[in-house]
Amino acid sequence: MALVSCRECGKKISDSTNTCPQCGAKQRVLSKSQVAYLAWGIVFIVFASFFNYVGIVEGGYDASVLAPMIPLYVIGIVLLILFNNSKKKSATKVN
Ligand SMILES: [Zn+2]
Repeated sequence: MALVSCRECGKKISDSTNTCPQCGAKQRVLSKSQVAYLAWGIVFIVFASFFNYVGIVEGGYDASVLAPMIPLYVIGIVLLILFNNSKKKSATKVN
């Protein structure tokens, strides 16, 4: 647990709280880029899982299943890592 500044009043508050106890302002609002990372990460992983599922249903993995699946998984995971990193950065930025 660390102390961060409130987005509204600037008072020191716990980074684990969602609402400022001083002024009631909501904290931890995700930026647009964070939402984009998260949303696209999920989209890519869902698509990868779809190819994975098709591969199982069709009774075997071949190049036509693996070729799109692996890059989709990799891109999805990278986007989720970016989302996670940007979350940490925004939490430590306000000191
Ligand atoms: Zn506040």
